[in-house]
Amino acid sequence: MGRKAFVGGNWKMNTQRESATALATAVAKATEKASRDVEVVVFPPFPYLLPVGDAIGPRVRLGAQDAYTEASGAFTGEVSVAMLADCGATHALTGHSERRHVLGESDTLVGAKTRAVLDGGLTCVVCVGETLEQREAGETDTVNERQTRAALEGVSAEGMARVVIAYEPVWAIGTGRTASPADAQQAHAALRALLAKLYDDKVAAATRIIYGGSVKGANAAELFGQPDIDGGLIGGASLDAEEFGAIVTAAAKKVH
Ligand code: PEP
Repeated sequence: MGRKAFVGGNWKMNTQRESATALATAVAKATEKASRDVEVVVFPPFPYLLPVGDAIGPRVRLGAQDAYTEASGAFTGEVSVAMLADCGATHALTGHSERRHVLGESDTLVGAKTRAVLDGGLTCVVCVGETLEQREAGETDTVNERQTRAALEGVSAEGMARVVIAYEPVWAIGTGRTASPADAQQAHAALRALLAKLYDDKVAAATRIIYGGSVKGANAAELFGQPDIDGGLIGGASLDAEEFGAIVTAAAKKVH
């Protein structure tokens, strides 16, 4: 079964209203000719979801960088999935390494957020990945497995149709250090084998597993050329529409 390539632009805590809108407009232009076989999503900061949603046009989808587990109530500072959907978001990230390691989110919380995103009807991009220390200790697959199992607890095989897994080695995020295509492929293949174990071969074959960690226009094609790498989650390079457009073009060349 063919998997539609996926490229997400995680803007993190960058841009302001005017620059966010300008970037969204530029991303729409830079990606408008790219094959519809690539799903393109931008993840701006919460306050700019509405203006970015208005500026991205029909080709690019809107995503949120996080979502809270509860629907409403006394949770100061949090944003519910229903609120995100109301602002036009169709996707949300969960478990980004900055939320895990800077903000201290646990595997359990990431699992609860993932279920909330799926229950709310959005597509969930679940991020997993090992630290440098864990990689050097040979724990890459163990960490990925632990984080993935926790994130997908309670997610049905049908629910997996709206899950994208992002493998993002922590040491490669924002560092300019990219995993080699072979190392990334190995981690992706292990994740796909895990999905076969948790669900079945059909779910494993259908689920997009994307790579994140210092992807640029110059290294995207080689990474996306690996059999189990179905696109990328892009941080720094997503703030440059041309660079992001080049990454989307590289994903469009991927044939499964
Ligand atoms: C990210 O934030 O998910 C990411 C991969 O960042 P960068 O591309 O800057 O490494």
